[in-house]
Amino acid sequence: MKILIATTNRGKQKEYAELLADLPWELSFPAPEKDNPDLENGLTFRENAVSKAHLYARTEKILTLADDSGLEVDALNGQPGVFSARYAGHTRKKGKDEANNARLLRELGSLPREKRGAAFRCVICVTDPAGRLLVVEGILRGYINFEPRGHNGFGYDPLFIIPEIDKSLAELPPGEKNRMSHRGRAVAELKKKWPEFIRTLEEGKQ
Ligand code: IMP
Repeated sequence: MKILIATTNRGKQKEYAELLADLPWELSFPAPEKDNPDLENGLTFRENAVSKAHLYARTEKILTLADDSGLEVDALNGQPGVFSARYAGHTRKKGKDEANNARLLRELGSLPREKRGAAFRCVICVTDPAGRLLVVEGILRGYINFEPRGHNGFGYDPLFIIPEIDKSLAELPPGEKNRMSHRGRAVAELKKKWPEFIRTLEEGKQ
């Protein structure tokens, strides 16, 4: 089965390639110039994931998986949320993660550890060109460290600590991040719901 993974973010592409490796799917990714930040103007992760998936599925005429994800910080009333990718206002790719992380540290200032709680959230939407939808979600809770730790992953990974193992996401090897991350959890949910979804797609063809 061919499926388009509608993200131009290299960090996410790598994670999906690994997370979906056990499925008999032939993955493809959009060309970098297809990146369209205007597709993420919704107020919720779900809205953004659904509109992105619909747009790519319709224009490319292929089964499409799109996600929207981000960081929700308790002390910032859930910000940066859907604005996670552009928190520091950067549109350029280079230096964007560092600028976002620096702003997050500035906003939290010297708040103590127990007030630095946060969650990563990922909503995944799969849709076919006819518009049939499957939507799943994954959440990972942790807290925001006072300084970056580790060099793996992308985005806010160096600042996000999982308290149970006292490691940042950027200190985990990729396989381990995927096992516990918001994206990994959303994909686990997707795999659970997949057989029923595929039945509805096949019924639609008859
Ligand atoms: P989008 O889903 O492509 O809009 O990007 C969401 C933004 O949230 C990314 O650019 C990162 O800043 C952040 N983000 C989402 N998932 C992760 C993750 O697994 N690690 C670190 N940052 C993430």
